[in-house]
Amino acid sequence: MKHNKLKIFLIITLILIILTLITVSVIFVIKKYSNPTTNEPIDITNYTKTEEIMKENNAYQEKYEQEYASIDYTDIENFPTIINNLLNKNYTAEEINSILKNYSSLIDVLLTMKHVDILKLAKLTNYDETKLNRYLDYYEKNDYDIATAVTYVNIGLDLEGYSEYITYNAEEAKDITILVNKYHKLPDDYEPDDLVSLSYNENYKLRKEAAEAFEKLTSAGVLENVIFYPFSPYRSFKTQEVIYNRYVKEDGQKNADTYSARPGFSEHQLGLAVDVRSSSLTDNLTEEQYNWMLNNSYKYGFIIRYPKGKQHITQYIEEPWHIRYLGIELATKVHDSGLTYDEYYDLYMKNC
Ligand SMILES: [Zn+2]
Repeated sequence: MKHNKLKIFLIITLILIILTLITVSVIFVIKKYSNPTTNEPIDITNYTKTEEIMKENNAYQEKYEQEYASIDYTDIENFPTIINNLLNKNYTAEEINSILKNYSSLIDVLLTMKHVDILKLAKLTNYDETKLNRYLDYYEKNDYDIATAVTYVNIGLDLEGYSEYITYNAEEAKDITILVNKYHKLPDDYEPDDLVSLSYNENYKLRKEAAEAFEKLTSAGVLENVIFYPFSPYRSFKTQEVIYNRYVKEDGQKNADTYSARPGFSEHQLGLAVDVRSSSLTDNLTEEQYNWMLNNSYKYGFIIRYPKGKQHITQYIEEPWHIRYLGIELATKVHDSGLTYDEYYDLYMKNC
């Protein structure tokens, strides 16, 4: 009997020990996984500097408990107020650390505007520190994400077209990939030295490489029963001046600027752009022809330079007839990107 009692006592003890161990393990596991972002429970002796400062200044808000623990303290004036204001603007601890480290001079501005994806901004390859205020200003006033705002400001779209522009020299103007728009001007006297006539009309000229590509494009169209003709290829500065001034006279400058380039700002002066027309020469391309052009011209080195729905970027109304030569490789990349050349240039060409 005595031996049996001892046995039962030992079994019960063992069961109790096992139960205790299970309970402890379960509690441990629950604690560990229920709050994976908190490394350690906050105990009174283990505050971070930020937490300490927030408490000392009566600025500690329970709902930001986790954020405070991850924000690196920085010795700046009004630190607690700034931190709470940034948190109220939905900045994460990671973003706040980036702001404190890289953009501390901007804190006042950031606090007066909508939330900026600061981590995205820091990663952009076309980001230019000198334009930071313009980026933020443009971003605040428009509904674009920060990456788009940066690209658009780099293009110059926060400024009125022609208000500020770069003027190329003759050597730069010869580059097949050159970007010409309302922010990039050609020298007045620039004329390509390798213009050749198109077979359609000897007075119609393009630079040799573009002319050869255009003949191939035309032939490819013929084979698929897509017939179009060039009607305005290379134009000198003087010719562009005459055309533009005529439009201004007829239609007013504001309207003219939406479809005609000012002299020096036209791709036609490059000898790399050509306007095409449908069979009757007075008609634009039909929708079918335009779609063919859209899907095939890049194979011969041309892009549709002013596509539909992109006027806010190109600064020109849709011009389905205007194609620009860039060479097959680049035209293919631009086509595949779905971007306008203005955007593509800023994102991928500028720093090459
Ligand atoms: Zn044109």
